[in-house]
Amino acid sequence: MRTLIKQAHLHDARGDHGVHDLYLRGDRIEGVDLGGEVDHTIDAQGNLVTPAFIDLHAHLREPGQEEKEDLASGLAAAAAGGFGTVVSMANTTPPVDDPGLVAALALKAERLGLARLRPAATLSRGLKGEGLTDFAALKAAGAVMITDDGIPVADAHLMRRACEYAQDLGLVIQTHSEEPSLRQGGVMHEGAVSQRLGLPGNPAAAEAAMIGRDCEIALLTGARVHLAHVSSKRGMQVVEWFKAQGAPVTCEVTPHHLTLTDAALASFDPIYKVAPPLRTDEDVAYLREALRRGVVDNIGTDHAPHTRAEKERDLLEAPFGIGNLEVTFALLYTELVGSGALSLERLLELFQAGPARVMGWPTPTLEPGEPADLVVLDLEASRPVTPATFRSKAKFSPWSGQTLRGWPVMTLVGGRVAFEGV
Ligand SMILES: [Zn+2]
Repeated sequence: MRTLIKQAHLHDARGDHGVHDLYLRGDRIEGVDLGGEVDHTIDAQGNLVTPAFIDLHAHLREPGQEEKEDLASGLAAAAAGGFGTVVSMANTTPPVDDPGLVAALALKAERLGLARLRPAATLSRGLKGEGLTDFAALKAAGAVMITDDGIPVADAHLMRRACEYAQDLGLVIQTHSEEPSLRQGGVMHEGAVSQRLGLPGNPAAAEAAMIGRDCEIALLTGARVHLAHVSSKRGMQVVEWFKAQGAPVTCEVTPHHLTLTDAALASFDPIYKVAPPLRTDEDVAYLREALRRGVVDNIGTDHAPHTRAEKERDLLEAPFGIGNLEVTFALLYTELVGSGALSLERLLELFQAGPARVMGWPTPTLEPGEPADLVVLDLEASRPVTPATFRSKAKFSPWSGQTLRGWPVMTLVGGRVAFEGV
């Protein structure tokens, strides 16, 4: 099978290559402007063609919570968002703490032919925070990351042992940085808004303290520690300080922590209830600045779908998390690139070379021989967020109705069309 992507404006980590005809052969990139017979032609005139995005942080809910999401809906949502590869979180029911489960998820995802799945496995057995899982067996089965995400690892000694073990195997440990006894039962950021609303707060200190602990353990053990969803100025400042000390740490920021604040909770709408919580204007400004300065390694969506019924409960009872795979790129393109706060090149890096570097994977490029994992972006397309059309089962969104610009119109994975939209 030979595919021609006609009149594509090509961009990758090596730079902007201008408009060319891009040829794919089978599941690989063949080259540009080659000519000759093709089986399939895709017209990309006026569109940007670039390596498909990588998300290191999505909750696909399978096994056990398929009413929220499953591999088919989650990986279709990912492809619709321009993602060719997704690392799925392991806090499912049962948790992904067993090599058989890792292998089964990988096999099932491969058959779906949507975005590629790279499963994470839990750090502790049963997510109980007590005994470690068998990292070597989990890695052999296909797990690419070790994390109890969703639940902080409270026991610092367990985290140290996990880091020593992961270091030997070259695995990345991802952390959910919230010091549990400081976080307590907080449902939103602790500050002026939580005080006014009379809601239990979760201080930025809970995040910063845990990041500090885990950076110390990374320095001590030499393990590669990835700090998930850094949400606060304090937390980011700790990351920066430890990076300057040479700690082997990387960090990600989510689309919602870059675009929403705790002021949204004044609506008492649980759609804004996420963990870590939405912070203040000052935090958002600092995170944006950290993106620009290169302190942040990648954008992780923390796509965390729930059923509508669960999200319509009382704010104190509703679960943490929102779905966002399908809007992430357009949201950040509109709010950050559109406002001049960030270059398109840097935004793309946060979805491509950045996450690849975190994982120790090759930088995705459009060079001949590379996998034909591509996203076709229409940067001029402007339309409102319409959750009814989401591939995700969570058909609601904090950005519903908001007009965003810059949408993926096609995603190819291994040369095959995994998503095609308007
Ligand atoms: Zn998460």
